[in-house]
Parts: sequence; structure tokens; C-alpha cells
Amino acid sequence: MDLRLTDEQQLLRHAVREFAESEIRPHVMTWDEAQTFPMDLLPKLAALGLMGIQVPEAWGGAGMSALAYCVCIEELARVDPSIALSVAAHNGLCSAHLSVFGNDVQKDELLRPLAAGQQLGAWGLTEANAGSDAAAMRTSAVREGDTWVLNGSKQFITHGSIGGTLVVMAVTEKTPGPKGVSAFVVPRGQPGLSAGKKENKLGMRASDTSEVIFQNCRVPAAAMIGKQAEGYLQAMQILDAGRIGIAALAVGLAQGAYEAARRYALERRQFGRPIAEFQAIRWKLADMATRIEAARLLTYRAAWLRDQKVERTSTESSIAKLYSSEIAVRAAEECVQIHGGYGFVKDYPAEKFFRDVKLCTIGEGTSEIQRLLIGRQLVGR
Ligand SMILES: Cc1cc2nc3c(=O)[nH]c(=O)nc-3n(C[C@H](O)[C@H](O)[C@H](O)COP(=O)(O)OP(=O)(O)OC[C@H]3O[C@@H](n4cnc5c(N)ncnc54)[C@H](O)[C@@H]3O)c2cc1C
Repeated sequence: MDLRLTDEQQLLRHAVREFAESEIRPHVMTWDEAQTFPMDLLPKLAALGLMGIQVPEAWGGAGMSALAYCVCIEELARVDPSIALSVAAHNGLCSAHLSVFGNDVQKDELLRPLAAGQQLGAWGLTEANAGSDAAAMRTSAVREGDTWVLNGSKQFITHGSIGGTLVVMAVTEKTPGPKGVSAFVVPRGQPGLSAGKKENKLGMRASDTSEVIFQNCRVPAAAMIGKQAEGYLQAMQILDAGRIGIAALAVGLAQGAYEAARRYALERRQFGRPIAEFQAIRWKLADMATRIEAARLLTYRAAWLRDQKVERTSTESSIAKLYSSEIAVRAAEECVQIHGGYGFVKDYPAEKFFRDVKLCTIGEGTSEIQRLLIGRQLVGR
């Protein structure tokens, strides 16, 4: 068993870290306060392969492994978790859905521009009354001749107002629940598709989160992704992999918080010496570093299993996502605590990590839902 990254993976980490330090770090607070995703970052992300991380090279992507994907998301989150969230949603949800289940025409026409960074992808599963219970969705698609007519709305959609391509799950069958849902791809600009309320969020503020509304939005039959009535199953498989991305995001965020806390603890002097010399502070750092290492290993293990083409990694993904997101919340909290009053103000990165981190225990399935899924696997029902 070799737990080291390959030379190539280490080079990738180095390249993404340098990029995040030079192109992202100087703007983190400006983007956070403006609550806007910096669209001019797209060509720069694309130049590094970060807009089509796992998209096969045949479709213009970088064709990286699941493990390399984790390294990329981790390094972005270490500096700005909200940019990491956008990159993860673009790659791990929208592009992944088209890449895994789309046909060649859809890949050529829609996946290619996403991988080239010409536009951002969005993915719509959640609705106002169907969050954890996504199969209770009401957005419908009704067949009319050679078209499908979509009606309804999706809630909390990353890039809901700025995404150029949207993958959306909608009810197509009379049977309600998981077997009644199909997936469609809808380009922005399609008549009947519009963005609703843009959310004013606690954290992850540079990542756009908006409602998406369908009002008699007519799409061609060819807009369906994969087979009819398999949309929910597809979505669950996308989330299996997507959750590893959120786990990597949490690991990167925790790493950023730990490094900020360590740096501050070495600089800040009280009672005539650096606070890092007090055992109470040193133990906090030790606990943070230990938990981060454990979370990273769980995340890499889940990604590695995917790279070995293990058919389903649902439990490993949930375990990685649950543990990483919860230790990241603790790391961000300790980071604020180690900064004392300076952790509460915007001159230091601690408060932003503290605001951003909470999304990790909510997005792509809450901690309660991860426990439910892991428990179901353990008990068998
Ligand atoms: C910033 C952000 C970005 C997002 N991006 C996207 C996106 O791009 N696409 C998308 O489709 N969705 C997206 N979401 C939605 C996200 O996936 C949902 O918010 C999440 O799945 C939880 O759903 P909910 O908010 O409706 O909470 P609810 O399902 O209403 O849950 C409320 C509480 O009840 C608990 N709960 C619910 N059911 C159970 C149960 N059976 N057992 C125990 N506890 C339970 C939950 O854990 C939670 O604590 C995003 C959300 C946010 C905040």
C-alpha cells in the first residue's frame, strides 16, 4: 500500500497552489463582499485544466483521475472555499452528469464548451419542498410531440443565475418518486428558463446560488440525458462522486484554517511569549492536524476506489464527506478561537473560513443524510 501522491500529482498540487495564491488570494474578500463569481477567472481556470478536470480529453477535458480531482479542489478550497465550491459544482455535478450519461452529440455541443471554460455549468435537483427528500420533486416535463415542456422551479442552484448550461431533473412519469424522474440539459437563453431569487448567503458568497424557474420551457426530445425515468438514479450516482469533491473541499478548507491558525499562534504574543507555546493552543493545533490527516486519507481512499472502477462507492463517499465536513467545522471554529478577537473581524481569514465551512455539512446531502445512508448500509435496511 503506497499512500504517497505520484510525482505528477505533486506537480499538479504545486501548480494549483501557485495559481490559487497568485490569482485568487489577493481578491478573496473583494469577491466575498461583492457576492459575485469572477467570470474573468474562467479562462485562467481552463488553462490549468480546472474547468474539465475529469472530462475525457476526447471532449476537450483534462482527463484527470478522481484522486487528482480531489487535489485540485483541496488546493482551491485552502485559499477560497467559494471558488472551490463553484469549480466542484461545475465539474462534479453538471459536467460529470453530461460526461457519464450524455450522448456524443450532447458531449460535443454542450460538454466541450464547459470543459473549455467558455461557460459555467449548473445542476438542478433541489426544490423548495424537496431537499433531502429529492425524489419528492414537483418540477415536471410533459411530452408534446418532439418536445418536452418543463414547468416548476429549482432552489439553491449553484450558478443558477450565471450558468450557461443547466442539467435538470424533472418528473416525467405518472409514478411518483425515484422511478418517475428524467434528466434534461437546457442551455441558458432557452425561452421559459429564467433565474429567480439570488440568495444572500452566510458564506460561500463568491459562488452564485439562485432559484431557477421553468415556465412552459420547451426543449427538444434530444435534450433528455440517458434513458427516460432514469434521472433520479443518474443523480444519485453523480452525488456518489460529487460528495468526494465536497469532502476534498472540506479537507482543503480545514487545511487553510489550520495554516492560518498556526501562523497566527507563532506570531501572536501574550504573557511575554508566542501563544503557540501554551499547551492549550498547541493541542488545538495538534488535534486539527490529526483530524485533517484522517479526513484526507478517507477522501483519497474513496477517490482511489473510484479510480479502480469500483462500481459503487456510496458508503465510502458518505463516510469521507461526513467526517471531512464535520472536522472542517471544528477546524474553522478553532481557527477563530486561536485568533481571539482578531478571529471575529475581517482583517484575518479566520472569520471567512468559519462562515464558509457550514455549507460542507449541508450541500450534496446533509450530515444527517450521510449518517442515514451509512447506517442503512451497515444495518442493511
Ligand atoms: C450554497 C448552496 C449551494 C447548493 N447548490 C446546489 C446545487 O447546485 N444543486 C442542487 O440541486 N442543490 C444545491 N443545494 C441544495 C442542497 O443540496 C440542499 O440544501 C440540501 O440537500 C439540504 O436540503 P434542504 O436545504 O431542503 O434541507 P432539508 O432537507 O429540509 O433538511 C432540513 C434538516 O432536516 C434534516 N433531515 C431531513 N430529512 C431527514 C431525515 N430523513 N433524517 C434525519 N434528518 C433529516 C436535514 O439533515 C437538515 O438538518 C445547495 C445548497 C446550498 C446552501
